[in-house]
Amino acid sequence: MNNKDWESICRRCGKCCYEKVDLGAGEIIYTKEPCIHLDTTTNLCKVYENRQIEEPDCIELTENLVRSLNWLPPDCAYVEHVRKHDTLLAVQLAEEKARKKKKNKRRR
Ligand code: SF4
Repeated sequence: MNNKDWESICRRCGKCCYEKVDLGAGEIIYTKEPCIHLDTTTNLCKVYENRQIEEPDCIELTENLVRSLNWLPPDCAYVEHVRKHDTLLAVQLAEEKARKKKKNKRRR
């Protein structure tokens, strides 16, 4: 997937751009405090192209990061995308395993 396709997954809801408090044990609380660069009218970042320079804490999401981060909202489009992708992969692997098992059974 190229960068443009990856970026197009984002719904531009801006939910991830609010300050969060990590309570530990996987518990994250979202505050009502937006990032100073978030335009709360459009939900778009005002410095998107330079966000990592303007805000060093801001991260560029990748598929692996989405899997490992525990603070993205559950309805984030990237979380849903990765979950769907991983589920499809798990189904394909299970089907492949079942096919091999069936094939081996026929040989006996
Ligand atoms: S929460 Fe997900 S879908 Fe919403 S703006 Fe952030 S990255 Fe995009």
